[in-house]
Amino acid sequence: MRNLVVVFGDQLNKNSSVFTGFHKARDSVWMAEVEEEATHVWCHKQRIVLFFSAMRHYRNTLAEAGVQLHYHELTKRRSSDRGGDFAALLTKDVRKLRPERIVAVRPGDYRVLRILTETAEKLGVPLEMRPDQHFFCSVEEFRRLAEGSKRLLMESFYRTMRKQHAVLMTEAGKPLGGQWNYDKDNRETFGGAGPDKLTPPLGFKPDAVTKQVLDLVATRFRKHPGRVDRFDLPVTANNARKMLKHFVKHALPLFGTFEDAMWTGQPFLYHSRLSSSLNLKLLDPRECVDLGVKAYAGGKAPLNSVEGFVRQILGWREYIRGIYWLHMPDYAEKNFFSHEHDVPQFFWNGDTEMACVREAMQHVIDHGYTHHIERLMVLGLLAQLAGVHPRRFHEWHMGMYVDAVDWVSLPNALGMSQFGDGGIVGTKPYCATGNYINRMSNYCKSCVFSYKEAVGEKACPFTTLYWDFLDRHYKRLKDNPRLAFQIRNLEKKRQDKKLMESIRVRAGELRGHWYG
Ligand code: SF4
Repeated sequence: MRNLVVVFGDQLNKNSSVFTGFHKARDSVWMAEVEEEATHVWCHKQRIVLFFSAMRHYRNTLAEAGVQLHYHELTKRRSSDRGGDFAALLTKDVRKLRPERIVAVRPGDYRVLRILTETAEKLGVPLEMRPDQHFFCSVEEFRRLAEGSKRLLMESFYRTMRKQHAVLMTEAGKPLGGQWNYDKDNRETFGGAGPDKLTPPLGFKPDAVTKQVLDLVATRFRKHPGRVDRFDLPVTANNARKMLKHFVKHALPLFGTFEDAMWTGQPFLYHSRLSSSLNLKLLDPRECVDLGVKAYAGGKAPLNSVEGFVRQILGWREYIRGIYWLHMPDYAEKNFFSHEHDVPQFFWNGDTEMACVREAMQHVIDHGYTHHIERLMVLGLLAQLAGVHPRRFHEWHMGMYVDAVDWVSLPNALGMSQFGDGGIVGTKPYCATGNYINRMSNYCKSCVFSYKEAVGEKACPFTTLYWDFLDRHYKRLKDNPRLAFQIRNLEKKRQDKKLMESIRVRAGELRGHWYG
């Protein structure tokens, strides 16, 4: 054998650089379902189904094309395959197959990159690492951009990408519509009436391959969190493309306007739900951007929606990947506030009186998904205010969300959501009282707590913990210009010593209740 071509579960693009120069008679593809990937963070059942089913579909397509394969399938019983770990399985196969070299696309997870490199070194087999061409911006290009600026902010990176790839630009090199972003138009709420013109996102009935994996997960991984019977995600490139087209036609027109709104019983609203397909690389980000831009050009979707969609894919997604590789491995250890708690128990089962958290957690349990505001401004916000260690919040997020892979989750969860990196991806911590949740949703109307109250039996935990958070971290936050308004309000509140003391006591009681 010439090349043993290793393909990971989040590298399922058929045009991957791993196939450049692939020779059917001399090369083989190697893939493995390993238990370690479902247990190194405690994974939601649907996340395990998604990866294994997508990998099996990908394998079947390669097999139909006549590619030689070495594929390790997990079985319902651990005793028949012993679970294995990636390094042990690869070592055994390389010794048996004796390839001239191992070829792989750079993994999206620093841990996997390290294991792969160490395994090849131990085996004494050359490892050819190829670039991941799925992304608009290579790791090297991002590094050059970062080195060329004092501090590479998302907004300037995004503008560079827009210009470089001529997306939503005029011929004169100006942004279409005259503005680079339309955030101010994208914060509408549903008022009292609730969402209108909602078309449910496309779902897919499990086929025979997925049914087998569902059975495997329901048996072998039965103790894992989340429900498995609602699984309806795309596990093939064809279905991912259908989901994209459905989104562009039915949801994109209102996506931007209601991007930040939340509503009871509506996990998806106008959001695309494409992130898991993108992150497994079933879907090409260029296709998403092209279809969005085409919808705008054809008058099918307004600029605020299309620009918001483009910004998430061409801007934010590329930016956080660049940040991940620029700062790893140190990034994973960052803990700006020295927070030490684990996520509370209700982050696994949704068993809480807080209506907003219960609702968001129900979405996580049912679908392994919430849209970005429930992640950032409900679950993420509560974790930050409660003092959860940012890496533990990232590990929880990695396990519970179907679209979470390491390069996505660390900068988003540890960085953006928890401000664990002290301001690398964001310029301020996202902190707010229950008032924000009340404004953006209908959750507070059915809650036993009152979002206005910071003390007393009915006090909203978000509101109590918000003041306690600012108070505890006053020294660290007081000079942040983006928090000036909030710090001034805290200083006023601190003048009432009795009130502040009651807030501190109530915050302590909440933490005592959650952590014992
Ligand atoms: Fe959430 Fe507080 Fe509103 Fe209850 S009152 S739903 S806990 S923000």
